[in-house]
Amino acid sequence: MKKIGNILIVDPIKGEFVGNVLVDGGRIESVIPKNSDVYKYIAMPGFIDLHTHGCIGKDTMRLSAEDLEGWEKFLYSQGVTAFLPTTVSAKKEDMLRVSKFVDEYVHERAYTSVYGIHYEGPYINIEKKGAQNSDMIRAATTEEIREVISSVVKLITMAPEVEGFYDVLTVLKENKTVVSLGHTNAGFKDMRRAFLYGVNRITHFPNAIKGLHHRELGGVGAGLYLDFEIEMIVDGIHLAPEFVDMIYRIKGADKIMLITDSIDAAGLEDGKYNLGGLDVTVKNGKATLPDGTLAGSTLLFNKAIKNFKKFTNCSLRELAKVSSYNAARNLAIEDVARIEEGYKANIVLLDKELNVIRTYLNGETVYESN
Ligand code: FE
Repeated sequence: MKKIGNILIVDPIKGEFVGNVLVDGGRIESVIPKNSDVYKYIAMPGFIDLHTHGCIGKDTMRLSAEDLEGWEKFLYSQGVTAFLPTTVSAKKEDMLRVSKFVDEYVHERAYTSVYGIHYEGPYINIEKKGAQNSDMIRAATTEEIREVISSVVKLITMAPEVEGFYDVLTVLKENKTVVSLGHTNAGFKDMRRAFLYGVNRITHFPNAIKGLHHRELGGVGAGLYLDFEIEMIVDGIHLAPEFVDMIYRIKGADKIMLITDSIDAAGLEDGKYNLGGLDVTVKNGKATLPDGTLAGSTLLFNKAIKNFKKFTNCSLRELAKVSSYNAARNLAIEDVARIEEGYKANIVLLDKELNVIRTYLNGETVYESN
């Protein structure tokens, strides 16, 4: 039995209170509130990043087991206890290679923070390709989807207007792969149609989505008006701070999921990098293609939560929602993202400036700051 004492417990449902947490066998045994407001550290559910292409030189498209272990370890320093290595638009063979590799990796380990794979593309709209390789972008077919999908594929970003989108939805649903709309030029009607078919999630809103017009609401209007859950890259580069605050006020903390969309350059120096075969330059932390298009981010998750708090002045309880709880519920992971009896002891301790002090995965300390 392990005790994490004198902390401000931040549970996304019960709220914030001082107390002790007892951990046993990888799970939270009990949460004991104390009649006090004195605490040293803040305890939040471990962060969840459902959209990351890489960091510190690691890249989903070219991983060894050692790389992925290094990636996991680095993310513990960011408080991340679950993430989805995310692909870029690629050949069928490469998608399969990556997903098989990650599947084996996960199954060989008693516990890991790798929860599965996110396929970003290739079934997207070339007009909104962002930093996706146009040679790889294509229509969706049931035949190909059946080949590339397996239980490790938890999430897929697709454009609703690509050919075959509605054909493959059933296959994806049977496989329990969550579909997210993104890299799309769909207008309001097409976004609504997908929503009515049960697709209620938007990838890195509103980047690579059709803008808002007062007669044609576009993907941005659809995201705001309909009950979509949205990913946001809160690095201060992809979205203006005021935009983040505005979305928080409109949608509320229940509908936002923080992601990093980080590439291999995250956590490294400025310089030249490569994303899915495209040349990327990183200058002052901003990653771009030669034509200036943003190419993922160099955002780290600890920074994302600090930015969100700063831009919106949200409560810690709301911060626990946007950094963990909403993502877990979105993928139907039931036993994480709360500081509550019976839940997995994936917990991050932060100081009052929100720096990560210690990270627990399955009750074990996997990161400790010096
Ligand atoms: Fe993207």
